Amino acid sequence: MKKIMLKITLLVVVLTFHPVISNAQSRKDKEQTVTVKDPYDVAKINAPKGKKIKNVILMIGDGMSLMDMYSAWTLNKGKLNLENAQAVGLSKTYCANKLITDSGAGGTAIATGHKTNYHMVGTDVNGNPLPSLTDFAKNKQLSTGVVVTCRLNDATPADFCCNNTDRDKDYEIVADYTTCGVDFIFGGGSKYFENRPDGRNIFREMENKGYQTPKNWDALSKINSGKVLAVVDTLDLPEPKVRGNILEKASMKAVDMLSKNDKGFFLMIEGSQLDDYGHFNDLDLLMQEIFDFDKTIGKVFEWAAKDGETLVIVTADHETGGLTLVGGDLEKGKIVGKFSTTGHSGVMVPVYAFGPGSENFTGIYENTALFDKIKKLLNL
Ligand SMILES: [Zn+2]
Repeated sequence: MKKIMLKITLLVVVLTFHPVISNAQSRKDKEQTVTVKDPYDVAKINAPKGKKIKNVILMIGDGMSLMDMYSAWTLNKGKLNLENAQAVGLSKTYCANKLITDSGAGGTAIATGHKTNYHMVGTDVNGNPLPSLTDFAKNKQLSTGVVVTCRLNDATPADFCCNNTDRDKDYEIVADYTTCGVDFIFGGGSKYFENRPDGRNIFREMENKGYQTPKNWDALSKINSGKVLAVVDTLDLPEPKVRGNILEKASMKAVDMLSKNDKGFFLMIEGSQLDDYGHFNDLDLLMQEIFDFDKTIGKVFEWAAKDGETLVIVTADHETGGLTLVGGDLEKGKIVGKFSTTGHSGVMVPVYAFGPGSENFTGIYENTALFDKIKKLLNL
């Protein structure tokens, strides 16, 4: 009993004094107002006419809700690149043992087609490793890529490249990159690749497998062929204002390199930190992340429209923060919003599709159906 009391006291102390969590708590249920500082132009992008699907680009906004997009749309004075999507559907995000999922189980469903338990990445409920879309694509000689702005041991990239029953096993998860075989990997988390407790240096191991390991954009920008493991930060990449348009640049670099394969490619791009600012209940930073993600969506749609054989899917693994707009002004680019939780909420998330095959993504379905549809359409 004493032990439990001590644990509870410690938890209360941590929750009270942890600056991020206590700030989030103090923001929850309170109105926040954001006014646009730099609205950006959005072009009309006409979808290609053809039917053939050679490539799939899957874009996941971690924790991204319909409310987030409507808020960003209002803030950007009534325009978003996402509106060029041709088809919209709804994905049911609950996981095997909880109504409200985390990114581990939510992303595993999309990556492997299996609902699994909370906090698991790339395994079934019994802990057996599951092949992901990147594995299936690789087996059919397609090129594969994963581009994120978080540390690579975070749940969403891990769902596609790693297998673990516990998403917090950071070092074990990072070690799985040595066997995942993905051609283009971009993100943060170098802290977990070198100076590890087990003495392994994952950069060296990847280099021995033929990977180039640039540590910043300048070095990455000079690479035009071969396998790439680009880890450009010790942990997560900094906020959009500081990191600039690196998500867009890294995504288009991946597209540029992977599209050299005549057989096609599968690429997962994540707007990773929408989730963080949903947890922090920080409306301003959340909107900056959505703008960053939407600008990347615009570039990807533009490329896909020109290519003509690329299906782009934009969706989320779950919702974070329970944002509600309670006011705003479309002409002024102003929003007034409130968060209802510092955790995830239970709601279906939209799926937006652009390009050949997009009509397959209308309707209401399980998150696992995303895996089934992509696998079928790419003939994997
Ligand atoms: Zn989260």
